[in-house]
Amino acid sequence: MRLLYDSHSHTPLCRHATGLPEEYARVAHARGLKGMIVTCHNPMPEAYGHNGRMREEEFPEYLRLVSEAAAQWADRDFEILLGLESDYLPGFEGIGPWLEAIHSRAEFHYILGSIHPQLSIYLERFSLDHPREFQRGYFEHLAQAAESGFFDAISHPDLVKNLTPDTWNVAALMPDIRRSLDRIAATGVAMELNTSGLLKTVPEMNPGPEILREMNLRGIPVVLGSDAHVPERAGENFPLALRHLKAAGYREIHLFRHRRPRALAIDEVEATLISPAS
Ligand code: ZN
Ligand code: FE
Ligand code: FE
Repeated sequence: MRLLYDSHSHTPLCRHATGLPEEYARVAHARGLKGMIVTCHNPMPEAYGHNGRMREEEFPEYLRLVSEAAAQWADRDFEILLGLESDYLPGFEGIGPWLEAIHSRAEFHYILGSIHPQLSIYLERFSLDHPREFQRGYFEHLAQAAESGFFDAISHPDLVKNLTPDTWNVAALMPDIRRSLDRIAATGVAMELNTSGLLKTVPEMNPGPEILREMNLRGIPVVLGSDAHVPERAGENFPLALRHLKAAGYREIHLFRHRRPRALAIDEVEATLISPAS
């Protein structure tokens, strides 16, 4: 019996992904998954810059892409749900009302909140000249994103390490990270384990094992996503991700539906995954 969903995937509307949701679904299904949530990058205000995301006028097209794929797969024991990856930038003019409006434009199952420190709008405000301060600021922003109340989960929560790989020292930064995680835990917002980190400059999942352990100590629910931007990556490295979660002390993983979390036992989920013949 299938149990697990891939809770993070993209569509060509963001201009840096290829393949339609039904193609991602084929790969995720072959890996033993029960479903996937499409979470393409949200439209943002003009001043934020809209490279790498759908334009506001493309939003109806996004809804159509997801619902067509869902209909195609509906009778094949695989579910495709509507979600969104929404950017958050503390202090950005009008961000609150903007997100509120976008998030109420459709019946989303899951809204992932993202700090994207690689974007020019972020780098203009927070300088990379002082990498340690940049890293500390990033973890402060994660906490603010959780406290904003707009999101079900916080995505790829140590992405900053890829911008500052030479000075990344998770042990040295841990006091700041712990403070951030305390605040996130207090909100009840979930956090993501994102397997695409294995392909980045610091080749480990986001977050890495040390942060995952601290999340578990605080009872922060974890949601699993591939962040696939090509169909071949849907559901990628999920067996490994579940092993990382268990090593960090986790016994459960969470899925969102109608924006409400549901827990699954990792031991039960593991037995349902299909490893590709290698
Ligand atoms: Zn993307
Ligand atoms: Fe992202
Ligand atoms: Fe993403």
